[in-house]
Amino acid sequence: MNRTTASRPCWVEINTRALQENFRQLAQLAAPHAQLLAIVKADAYGHSLNICAPAAVLAGAHWLGVTSVEEGVSARAVCPSARILTIAGVFPGQAHAVLEHALTPVVWDDTHFAELEAAARAANAAPQSIPVHLEIDTGMSRQGVDPAGLPAILSRFTSGSPLRLEALMTHLFAADEADDRITGEQLSCMQQVLATLESAGVHAEWLNIGNSAALLGGQAAALAGLAARFGMKALIRPGLALYGLTPQFDGLASAPLTPHLLPVMSWKSRVVCLRHLQAGDSIGYNATFVATEPMQVALVAVGYADGLTRSLGNHFSLLVRGQRAPLVGRVSMDQVVLDVTGIAGISPGDEVVLIGDQDGNHISAFDHAQAAGTIPWEIFTRIGARVPRIAL
Ligand SMILES: *Cc1c(COP(=O)(O)O)cnc(C)c1O
Repeated sequence: MNRTTASRPCWVEINTRALQENFRQLAQLAAPHAQLLAIVKADAYGHSLNICAPAAVLAGAHWLGVTSVEEGVSARAVCPSARILTIAGVFPGQAHAVLEHALTPVVWDDTHFAELEAAARAANAAPQSIPVHLEIDTGMSRQGVDPAGLPAILSRFTSGSPLRLEALMTHLFAADEADDRITGEQLSCMQQVLATLESAGVHAEWLNIGNSAALLGGQAAALAGLAARFGMKALIRPGLALYGLTPQFDGLASAPLTPHLLPVMSWKSRVVCLRHLQAGDSIGYNATFVATEPMQVALVAVGYADGLTRSLGNHFSLLVRGQRAPLVGRVSMDQVVLDVTGIAGISPGDEVVLIGDQDGNHISAFDHAQAAGTIPWEIFTRIGARVPRIAL
């Protein structure tokens, strides 16, 4: 018996070789200009941190990026020697874990400095022994220091401080737009910040900048050029591309660079049982589907509690026996019904593919996103914690 039949048949398969191949391809796009930081936040975009972080390290990643200190602690448990960047701030009471697990926090707020400095004092940390990445708000108004507040923040990096300014960071939030006006404004803002740093005699090793879209938009050389002007190296942070998806570029038919990325995730379930319906029979909550002729339907063990978007009921189809079978009726919490009329040979136990390949047909997270009015990032990260992730 294989592992998937030992439990309710709703599972995700993770192709670690595909992830490694994607990392190598992306690293090649960045080289020789820039290095990569592999984004594995939010449980590796729902692909499992425990599976994906070590795989990225095996493929050559020196840096991993997670959201929180908690995620950083989990990443440290499986990646003892990687650099681990915690992106979204240090919350009260968390700095001791930053030190204990040698995490590298992104900082921008006075409270981050106070929290880290207090923990460093308590641990008797040596001057300059805790690297931090200082985020600059170059226009997203989300997190980061307003450039006007830079001098005050820089004054905190004294030679006696336990904190060492290792990188300047920002997020290129419109790198997927054909019109590069916003990115251009962000880069000139960053250039001014770096010039301010230089004239204050402060040096940082890295410029930590850019996501999948910046990399596949072909910006690695320009970002590294900006870094090099100030004696820095560039670090680019791909997430989605690592998992095999190319962001869609607004105003372009395809991404400027199109490496052959491989989808890493397959999401599967099985036919639980089959049922014949007559004209007039209804399906699911509130009878939103009523048969107009005799049909055969299949019950499948996946529902919205597993992450299948509820609004896809009557609006999407899944793969079974290599064919697309429409979702009929509402998606339930734990189950869904497919119209399998005319699918020859179908039987209980047949594999159903929600994301992935079956007999030459493919359903992607982009397909789900389009039908659900969202983006593949959300589709991936909504797949429920109860769905087991299995490394292939
Ligand atoms: C999530 C995230 C990324 C990765 O974005 P993708 O579009 O998935 O490549 C990069 N940088 C930061 C700061 C992020 O939060």
